[in-house]
Amino acid sequence: MKKDQEKELDIDQDLTGSETDHTLINQQEVKPKWYKRIRKGILTKTSEKKETPEGLWSKCPECNYICTSTELKENVYVCPKCNYHHRIGSSEYFDLLFDNKEYGELFDNIISKDFLKFTDLKPYQQRLDEIYAKSHLKDSMRVAVGKINGEEMVIACMDFEFIGGSLGSVMGEKFSRAVDFCIEYKLPYLVISKSGGARMMESAFSLMQLAKTSGKLSQLSDAKLPYISLLTDPTFGGISASFGMLGDLNIAEPGALIGFAGPRVIKETIKKDLPEGFQRSEFLLEHGFLDFIVDRKELKSKMSQLIVLFKN
Ligand SMILES: [Zn+2]
Repeated sequence: MKKDQEKELDIDQDLTGSETDHTLINQQEVKPKWYKRIRKGILTKTSEKKETPEGLWSKCPECNYICTSTELKENVYVCPKCNYHHRIGSSEYFDLLFDNKEYGELFDNIISKDFLKFTDLKPYQQRLDEIYAKSHLKDSMRVAVGKINGEEMVIACMDFEFIGGSLGSVMGEKFSRAVDFCIEYKLPYLVISKSGGARMMESAFSLMQLAKTSGKLSQLSDAKLPYISLLTDPTFGGISASFGMLGDLNIAEPGALIGFAGPRVIKETIKKDLPEGFQRSEFLLEHGFLDFIVDRKELKSKMSQLIVLFKN
């Protein structure tokens, strides 16, 4: 046995080139030093780390399926495996819906103002300035006019990226001007909602938008022009309490979370477990809140089909 150990040690010596204290052999456990740990833990400075470029891969939050961002984009941001609809912004919806991605943006010169000098975690104005600096967005809604399979339409689409797609005075104003535009040119109106609700930094100014937008929709209705409300994940608060549910057709994307207060708040209030799929678009369809659910891949064809039907 002793002989074997010595032999093993000889190999070690050859590899590491280090002298071994033979007097310790019998007292200590002999470990082969094939892999010698010089330092404990692998420490790489952040600046030296080689990172995968951000946004190259995408992981589905529903089924954990991993695919390249290009693959996901080609599949209109819908998971190829489980049909989960990823959240997208106005640019993606406009590109998806308008023919040849051609459209004219309307009222993009309106920007938010801090009327109330409101401060929560930071001043409202600072919050706005930070978003202007890091994104191309000017507010939580963009309005555009263009053709969908040859049929002209005005689309107002929210961007969740901009303070949670919250409804402030800018969104209210853009929404209203879009209605005026529809009336002037006799065009149908589609609103794509994705919002947490009213913008608390604008307080009462935000709440006034509920009445303003709802009132405007009655003018559109008087002009006998169709208004379609598409609800996407998530649509909450003031949006679902006003124009989100006032469409001639209220439709939604599959699996979208739609409601007034969130499930957690409701659960805490009523102290009861909520049914499965509560506040999901499928649940709302079953309970008569929605007219139908539309898959994103069929959105464009469905929209042009609807415009033709409304025209006749
Ligand atoms: Zn998936």
